[in-house]
This record gives sequence, C-alpha cells and structure tokens, in this order.
Amino acid sequence: MKKIKVIGGGLAGCEASYQLLKRGFAVDLYEMRPTVMTPIHKTGDLAELVCSNSLKSMDENTSQGLLKYELELLDSLIIKVAKACKVPAGGALAVSREEFSKGIYDELAKYEKLNIIREECTSIDDYTIVATGPLTSDSLTDAIKTLTGEGELHFYDAVAPIVSRESIDMNNAFYAGRYGKGGDDYLNLPLDETQYYEFVDALVKADRVILKEFEKKEIFSACMPIEEMARKGKDSLRFGPLKPVGLYNPKDNKRPFAVVQLRKEDNYDKLYNLVGFQTNLKFSEQARVFKMIPALSNADFIRYGVMHRNTYINAPKVLDNTFAMKENNSIFFAGQISGVEGYVESAMSGLFAGINMARLCNGEKLLIPPITTACGSLMHYISSSKKDFQPMHVSYSLMTELDKRYRDKAKRREAYSNRAKKAIKEFVDRYIKE
Ligand SMILES: Cc1cc2nc3c(=O)[nH]c(=O)nc-3n(C[C@H](O)[C@H](O)[C@H](O)COP(=O)(O)OP(=O)(O)OC[C@H]3O[C@@H](n4cnc5c(N)ncnc54)[C@H](O)[C@@H]3O)c2cc1C
Repeated sequence: MKKIKVIGGGLAGCEASYQLLKRGFAVDLYEMRPTVMTPIHKTGDLAELVCSNSLKSMDENTSQGLLKYELELLDSLIIKVAKACKVPAGGALAVSREEFSKGIYDELAKYEKLNIIREECTSIDDYTIVATGPLTSDSLTDAIKTLTGEGELHFYDAVAPIVSRESIDMNNAFYAGRYGKGGDDYLNLPLDETQYYEFVDALVKADRVILKEFEKKEIFSACMPIEEMARKGKDSLRFGPLKPVGLYNPKDNKRPFAVVQLRKEDNYDKLYNLVGFQTNLKFSEQARVFKMIPALSNADFIRYGVMHRNTYINAPKVLDNTFAMKENNSIFFAGQISGVEGYVESAMSGLFAGINMARLCNGEKLLIPPITTACGSLMHYISSSKKDFQPMHVSYSLMTELDKRYRDKAKRREAYSNRAKKAIKEFVDRYIKE
C-alpha cells in the first residue's frame, strides 16, 4: 500500500491522517512545530486550537450542530476526541485544549503505520495532502504558488459581510445597475441624509478587533476597512462605496442621498455581500451598526466581515469538489488553506481529503456527499463559487432550497436538518460502512 504524505498536524491534517490510517495506509505526518513556530500557535502539540476552545453549537437544528452530527456518523477523529474531553459550555461543544491535543495524539499513536516528522516541509510531491492552515510557512507557500500559479494563493481575508436574501427588507431595496448598466446585478439599499450621517457616526465609534502586529502591514496596505474610510470625513463614504450616482430609486425616481450596494454571492440567489464593506469591527458591532441600514434592520448575517491573515487557495479554480487538485488529482488540499473556514469545517475537509486519497489509491470512485448535507453543500460551494472567492463556513444558505417554504425560521432550520440527516445516513450506509 502507498505511503501518503500529510503536511500539517492541525485539525485538518490530523483528521486526514486518521482516515488514512484506519483504512490501512502508512502516513508521514509533517508538523514543523515546535522547531519552527507560526506567529499564533503556542505549543508543539498536534491539533492546537489557535484561539477559542469552542467548536460551536451542538444543536442539530443549527448548521454547525448538523455538521458535527454528520461528522460523527462519518467517524471523525476531531469530533470523537472533542466529545471525550468537553467542558461545560451550554449548547456549545467546548473542550479542554490540552486534553484535546493529547487525545488526538493518543488516538493517532495507536497506529504503527504513523510516522510523525517534526520538520518544516518545503516541497509537495504526488500523493500528498496539504493541510498547513492559515499560517502556512513561507517556503511551503512558495512551493504552493509554483503548483497553483502565483495568482491563485491569497494571504489574508478582507471579507465583507454576507447576508441572506430572505432577511433583506425588499420594501427598502431596489435592483439596478449604475447608469442602467449591468442589468439587475446589484441590489441597492438607499439611505436618506439623516440615516446616512447616523450610520457614519455609529461606524466611526464602533469597537474594532485589534490586529496582531504581523497582520497590520500586509492587510491595511492592501485594503482599507470601511470604518477607516468613514474616519476620513463624514462624506467620504458618499463619494466612495456608498456613492449614489447613476442610481435612481423606482419609488420616487430620485437619486438617494447614499446607497449601499449588495452583490450576489452564490448561484441560487440566496446570499448577498455588502460591496466595499471590508471591515475590522467586532461581530456584535457589525450586527448593531449594519442593521442601521433600513433594508438590513432584520438581516441574517451568514458571515461577518473579517480582516486577518489567512493563507488560502482560489479553491473554485484549483480544486474539484473532492478537495483534489484539478491539475493533479493525487494532491489534495484540506483545512483552512482549501478555502473552508473554522475548526470543524477544517476537520470536515481533512476527513474527505483523507477518505478520497484512500479511495484514489484503491482505484475506487471518489466520494462527494449530497448537496443537501452540511458537508456536501460546503464542498460544492468552495469548488464552484463565483469569482472573488472568499473562504466560507457551513450554512443552510449553501444548501439547495427545501421543497416546501417555511415562514417560521425554527421550522425551516429543522426541515433543513432533517433532510440532511436522512441524506447523510443513506450516504454513510452506502459508501462508508464496510
Ligand atoms: C488568529 C487566528 C484565530 C483563529 N480563531 C479561530 C477560532 O476561534 N475558531 C475557529 O473555528 N477558527 C479560528 N481560526 C481559523 C483556524 O485557524 C482554523 O479554523 C483551524 O485552525 C484550521 O485548521 P487547519 O488544520 O487548516 O490549520 P492549523 O490548525 O493551523 O494547522 C496547520 C498546521 O500546519 C503546520 N505547518 C504550517 N506550515 C508547515 C510546513 N511547511 N511544514 C510542516 N508543518 C507546517 C502548522 O504548524 C499547523 O500546526 C483562527 C485563525 C487565526 C489565524
């Protein structure tokens, strides 16, 4: 049986290694820490949680809880160990960090065919899973660039918030392209003079996330957050991303005082991003301040804006929907570098990269769970989303519509969850249980 190289002993790399080992493959797992450290990790432990110790909700009617349910059925190492060392955290799955890392190591160490190599890996061969995370080392970054092409690797997120279409108040919104160009590609949210100045005032006073020293230079030199732009003068946004020129509100045929533009983020018309709203505000402040825009007063934020260091590839261009490279199907990417976002999502991509690498080596058909599941919808999204790809976490908005419409949000979530659970059970019975 082939020996597989897994680069990175984080959440994705450990999960991928486990899936390979339990299928009988030998694994060389490269982890550069503690010899070479990242600017954020503090230990040499496998699967170190870099920030929060929470793996988010356990409620199976939330997309995060559903993802955990699916991963548990798929025999995920990360979920198994997290559950074994959980600490009280209400409805969330939070863990003791040290016990979590130790549990992961102990589980992997049961396999004789695992070889942990404490070295920085600087090259990528065939039959490799690259799982080096948001803080991939510089020399491996160069190797990835060579593999994917210079323009297909990104080094930071400067992401504007994304809202669900169904939560936008369409009475305060209108479709139109500036000067009538571009058809109805943009959804425009008008603000009158009072609304605009109140919004700008709240924006400049809102609490921001403090960037780490190593992040400041590269991020701010590339992209200015909207709150910084607002600080330059109370009218700067009206002459920048909120400019109303060329836009007329069909309600009164007049040009609004200012306009927030939203652009479609997906192919199903379910997700919209706030154009030019790259922001460094705390999530709670984004919810408070952006809801001052009348059409967004009840907005459901599918993803908040972030600006931080994050190494990730242009997944829709580089990867197929199994996490394999389109140009070389024996090289897989997993974890944050593959374009997913978050601890559990990273584990999910590691799990499928591991399973699919094993199947590739065995000459079997590669697996993609149905798009009605949390796993399948995220795999589909990252390999097919539109241009200007930004990393994504799991969300019901990534799934295909339900057959029936539910006005009640709780009922809708339950319906998405029930449909996904049924689909993943069938998938596991058919392909995973041997
Ligand atoms: C500052 C910061 C805070 C975050 N906070 C959260 C949070 O609270 N919640 C959340 O869900 N997500 C958070 N994230 C995202 C988080 O990084 C991912 O969810 C998760 O860690 C990704 O798992 P991974 O396996 O892809 O990467 P990692 O867990 O980072 O694992 C990658 C591993 O690869 C190793 N490595 C890198 N280059 C090499 C090389 N050349 N050779 C060998 N080894 C190498 C690294 O040392 C590391 O151990 C945060 C990210 C950052 C940067």
